[in-house]
Amino acid sequence: MQSVRRRLSLILIACTIAAVILSAVFVNITMNNTFNKYMVDVQNQRNVRIVQYFEQIYKNEGKWTNSSGTEQMHEAYMSDYCLTLLDANKDVVWGMNPSDIRNTTTTHMMMGAGAGKGVYTSKTFEIKVEGKIVGYALIGQYYAVLLSEQDINFKTSINKGIAISAFIAILIVVAVSLNISKQFSLPIKTVSDISVELSKGNYESRPNIKSKIIELSNLIGSINMLGEKLMHQEQLRKRLVSDISHEIRTPLNVLQNNLEAMIDGILPITGDRLINLNEEVIRFGKLLNNLNSLNQFEEQEVPLNITTVFLDDLVTDVCSDYITIAKAKNININISTEPNKYMIIGDEDKLKQVFINLLSNAIKFNKENGSIWVKLQELDNKIMVEIKDNGIGIKKEDLPYIFERLYRGDRSRQLTSGNGIGLTIVKKILDLHGASIDVLSEESKGATFTLNFMKKVE
Ligand code: ADP
Repeated sequence: MQSVRRRLSLILIACTIAAVILSAVFVNITMNNTFNKYMVDVQNQRNVRIVQYFEQIYKNEGKWTNSSGTEQMHEAYMSDYCLTLLDANKDVVWGMNPSDIRNTTTTHMMMGAGAGKGVYTSKTFEIKVEGKIVGYALIGQYYAVLLSEQDINFKTSINKGIAISAFIAILIVVAVSLNISKQFSLPIKTVSDISVELSKGNYESRPNIKSKIIELSNLIGSINMLGEKLMHQEQLRKRLVSDISHEIRTPLNVLQNNLEAMIDGILPITGDRLINLNEEVIRFGKLLNNLNSLNQFEEQEVPLNITTVFLDDLVTDVCSDYITIAKAKNININISTEPNKYMIIGDEDKLKQVFINLLSNAIKFNKENGSIWVKLQELDNKIMVEIKDNGIGIKKEDLPYIFERLYRGDRSRQLTSGNGIGLTIVKKILDLHGASIDVLSEESKGATFTLNFMKKVE
């Protein structure tokens, strides 16, 4: 197994080295071919020049002698080619020995066929004066292309340049590859380390790294969110266990203590006491019922009895049911609705449960002489119901969690009634109806719950 960084670096480096070597070889071959072509052109021009020179000599002298054009011999020796002058009958006037230039080939080297193993070839050129052939020039050499020392130095320095630039390119690419692979691998490695930590139960671990690559930045964001959720779930789990045991222990303790006292004859058995004890049993039963109905909602086992529901009627009914309870705390309930029939499709009983839970919370978490405002409104084919109170409000840190199972705000926990299930059920019922719920709140100023339902199309 290899790390992402190692694998990525190896791939990048291997690809780049291959690309650099290939392009260096390609440049080298192209350069050699072009240079060869150039040298062949130079040789052809040299041959033309030699023939023209002989023609001029013949024009001047009118015949061939043993010394006609012999000054060319020196240049021929120096440049590693062999010259022979023939007359019109192809008899040799003078000529160089091919083996002589072979021996002098010390600084003059070749290109093309393998070095040091040249095969002697010669070409014959006609020497014409006034349209008449007066002789022939034989130009022979051991190699297709002859190179001078400068030519070879020139070629060597170009090849060196290519090799050095390929080497520098590889060095740069290795450095860049290591850097690039780090940019990719570091976030992946960090996220992978964090996921291991999370799997070990260290829910506080977070990646302290940023990435400018969208996918990696999303990955970091997701693992952060996962950590937050796991930590929160862990807190909820702990809280759930303590809440449930508290909720169960309280009525059980009351029952046990009272019953023991009655059995021991310390407390006389009276009708009032039995009623009180029965209330505790009822409270206990309610908690279990709530947990049971929540479980059913979570298992999606609740069948909906779908009918047309007039939301304004339903909300008004629930409000009037709660007027007496609200009055006990001197709380005002104000309903504002337009003379309109707010029709939606849904289960009337379940929706009633939603408004009962929201309204009872608005009363429960309100102060003496507080107010509640219930408003219905139609907006873009949606029906919006707003339930607003000016009670104790919800702490900012509690806001994201109030729809969670058994979550109770700190101040709510001081109240005995309630078990943190009401809003969870509200959310589940609304989800089943495709409706949404949002909450805005400021501590000590109150809370506003806004529900949005799809309007029934007539
Ligand atoms: P419960 O009311 O049984 O505690 P809920 O699920 O109905 O449980 O509410 C969860 C928590 O949300 C409450 O404990 C309380 O902290 C907060 N809450 C809900 N409604 C209001 C409200 N109208 N004003 C202030 N806090 C509220």
